[in-house]
Amino acid sequence: MAKRLQGKVALITGGARGIGAAAASLFSQHGAKVLIADIRSEIQSESGQPVSFVECDVSSDLDMLNAVDAVVSMHGKLDIMYSNAGIAEDRAPGILSIDPQVFRKVFDVNVYGSFLAAKHAARVMVPKCSGTILFTGSAVTASYGLAPHNYTASKHAVVGLTKNLCVELGQFGIRVNCISPYVVMTPMAAEFAGCDEEAYKKRVLPDHLKLMRAEEVAEVALNMVSDESNYISGLNLLVDGGVCLKSA
Ligand code: NAD
Repeated sequence: MAKRLQGKVALITGGARGIGAAAASLFSQHGAKVLIADIRSEIQSESGQPVSFVECDVSSDLDMLNAVDAVVSMHGKLDIMYSNAGIAEDRAPGILSIDPQVFRKVFDVNVYGSFLAAKHAARVMVPKCSGTILFTGSAVTASYGLAPHNYTASKHAVVGLTKNLCVELGQFGIRVNCISPYVVMTPMAAEFAGCDEEAYKKRVLPDHLKLMRAEEVAEVALNMVSDESNYISGLNLLVDGGVCLKSA
């Protein structure tokens, strides 16, 4: 297997489980040194490759600073920031019933956490004039009503960060992109679905598509952060099997 991230150093937020864990396994199989930054310390990794861990709440400036400093002190640099941590707090909080604190919490993790990940990555990438930042949006930015409004709004904000930072950091040779998956079978999706996989599939997908696996999203992330994509920046890439076009 060609190792596409040989010599690279990656920090993955929310890498303890789900999409982030799949990416940590795949990136390390491709030769990257990986540090997972997560609030959860039980790591689900099946690669057999060594992956380091730092406890980090992405919505804390100090925690993000420490996580980036940790990866630099371990490996001397940071090439890839994969800002993947995210939450979807409530199943169906209508505008009339949502607790404003829930709205704020989703923004704290999904938006402020993405901003902090980028800020601390930029702190070490700008002086080197190289690096790439990959954000995590959602197909909710292309198809409305899929998720609660707080989550949808937060993922639009992440796309806004992507576009602006692409321009701002591009002058330093730093690429900034976002991947926006449709439904992926992860612990988050299982908690959100509230039913078994088969019933969930019927609810969210047309018959011809299978439920997406975290490993499939990790492959897309690998493509986006690898040097083969070095002319791709500012992109919000939908990973949705064309579902959103159909429902638009
Ligand atoms: P998940 O809940 O299975 O995993 C998320 C990880 O993020 C967990 O390990 C969790 O501990 C960590 N995390 C949560 N809050 C954190 C915080 N404050 N600081 C640090 N780590 C924190 O979720 P997933 O399905 O793998 O989702 C990963 C990303 O993909 C999220 O941004 C999510 O919004 C996005 N996404 C998921 C789907 C889906 O259907 N699963 C679809 C589109 C986008």
